[in-house]
Amino acid sequence: MIVAIDGPAAAGKGTLAKRLAEKFGFAYLDTGTLYRGVALALLKAGHDPSDEAAAAQASAHFDLALTHDPDLRTEAIGAAASIVAAMPEVRSNLLKFQREFASCPPGGAAGAVLDGRDIGTVVCPKADLKLYVTASPEERARRRTSELQERGIDADYSAILADVKARDERDMNRQEAPLKPAKDALLLDTTILDIDAVFLRAIRFVEAAASADTKAN
Ligand code: C5P
Repeated sequence: MIVAIDGPAAAGKGTLAKRLAEKFGFAYLDTGTLYRGVALALLKAGHDPSDEAAAAQASAHFDLALTHDPDLRTEAIGAAASIVAAMPEVRSNLLKFQREFASCPPGGAAGAVLDGRDIGTVVCPKADLKLYVTASPEERARRRTSELQERGIDADYSAILADVKARDERDMNRQEAPLKPAKDALLLDTTILDIDAVFLRAIRFVEAAASADTKAN
């Protein structure tokens, strides 16, 4: 069983993906960490995130250890990740790993949950279930601001809102694998639904997809 979850930054898809994976015993891959890892490798080596040759090189020799780096989750790395993510060579270098994870989940898990921007459209177009999780930019910026403040990090709502909008703009309007709901994705808007309501709804979708699979086989 493959569950594909896509949506813009800070919509709540990571929390949902983690909880679903835990509930059903599936493996979980946050594909954003791969693009963040490439961006981090570039910045650590003193390159600009728009340096295509350096980004291609960093994604071809991707070091998974980077996905555990404490700097990975900063706003600056998120912004740099969305710059390298627009490069076709970077995307194709990271595609194989994601597809292998989905078709052969680590630890022999019975399924995989992947979250990102193009899971339902490009990485796993035949996923058993596709969810598109979204929320208004204002709500996402508000959540990101309080999340950072709770971690004791200085955060300014207007700067974060501008960053969320800039990232949406880049992710939705790039040539390669732009962020958009797959035609067969189910939409979940977390502006109105809280995370528990979204989780309960998603559980029902997974159960329905699993029983449809059983009937088909
Ligand atoms: O989800 P997260 O904020 O960690 O992703 C960082 C950036 O990586 C996104 O803004 C997006 O540009 C890129 N990304 C992508 N495709 C994915 C996952 C992330 O382009 N499947």
